[in-house]
Amino acid sequence: MKPCTNCERQNADDAIFCDACGHGFDKYNRLGGWLLVFVIFLICSIGLYFYIINSAVTRLANYHSFSTMPGFADFYPNYFSWAIVSLVSAITFLALHIWLIIKIFRRRAGFLRLYQIMRLLGMIEYPIMLLFSYTTPGATIRRTLFDLLGLILFTIYFCLSKRVRAYMGSDAYIKKAWIKFR
Ligand SMILES: [Zn+2]
Repeated sequence: MKPCTNCERQNADDAIFCDACGHGFDKYNRLGGWLLVFVIFLICSIGLYFYIINSAVTRLANYHSFSTMPGFADFYPNYFSWAIVSLVSAITFLALHIWLIIKIFRRRAGFLRLYQIMRLLGMIEYPIMLLFSYTTPGATIRRTLFDLLGLILFTIYFCLSKRVRAYMGSDAYIKKAWIKFR
């Protein structure tokens, strides 16, 4: 038996988290494994959104000089709305990513629900982008399926992972989630 460092309850020697308070033992109490991979992926995505914001702002800044070129309106009929929609969407997803990372670091139970909202918004975003940007239906379907796959796989992982359970300290994040796998 080993005592919990948080509430002093005795637990089995191979316990990963405390039966009474949910406190994680040893390495399971730290950010690691696939949870760490997930956080690194989120941080890399932030770089991508900065890049998209930068291109959208550049497009908007050049709108005036481009729009006077002959034939411009025929080639790029949605140029302005395309830049606005991608700017708004990139700022939204940048904010959601930062919010999600903060929630994970602070071990806030609402993180799984926030992740699911983010993925569902992504699945709505791509068909909207198809109306305004110069992407193809095939690319839109691939990106939507990629978001759906992420939603399903990470929901299953977060609901089953002992490490995530120990790291978060309780099952509260599963109860708060919109889509539950358990
Ligand atoms: Zn305990």
